[in-house]
Amino acid sequence: MKSFLLIGEHYITDFINTQFTPHGEIVENFESFCDIKDWFLKVGLLDEKRLNNIKENELYFKELIDYRTLVRNSFKDYIKEQISLDKLIKTTNNILLKAKVHPQIINENDSFVLEYIPNASKYNELLTKIAIELIKLLNSKEFKYLKKCDNHKCSLYFIDTSRNHSRRWCSMEICGNRSKVSNFVKRKKDLIK
Ligand SMILES: [Zn+2]
Repeated sequence: MKSFLLIGEHYITDFINTQFTPHGEIVENFESFCDIKDWFLKVGLLDEKRLNNIKENELYFKELIDYRTLVRNSFKDYIKEQISLDKLIKTTNNILLKAKVHPQIINENDSFVLEYIPNASKYNELLTKIAIELIKLLNSKEFKYLKKCDNHKCSLYFIDTSRNHSRRWCSMEICGNRSKVSNFVKRKKDLIK
């Protein structure tokens, strides 16, 4: 199984991070429908039994890739220029409508959980799962802590769940240390000047 970068602190940020440009060149995690199924298993959005029942489908694959691009571009514009998420919301609502998603209250370990259940006979289950997670994110308190990595060359997103909401980097290993090193070099240069 492929390895995936899970630094997003949310299904949606991890989902859009499956294509990223850490240092200029594009890294693509989703080269096939199977890769996407592997990702669902890895993050725990669907179990193996359920995933085994989902057949490879070129159209569904394309829909997932297109939706991933839409979510990432919408987040990018939203963070940078406060551009509304209207297009993303419209597309997401259409996905939910097509899959006939309806809310249900479920008793889970003695607490009541609001769940969303698709009901159409033919629909893109993986896409619908992602759309459901997206509405949960938009509807959550955490959404205001959506951030892009401070390295302008890096395209990774995350929900800043740190206590002071002061997280700046996708990860120390990928961008944090680089920044530290370049600041150190810059400071040294400034001193020499
Ligand atoms: Zn980064």
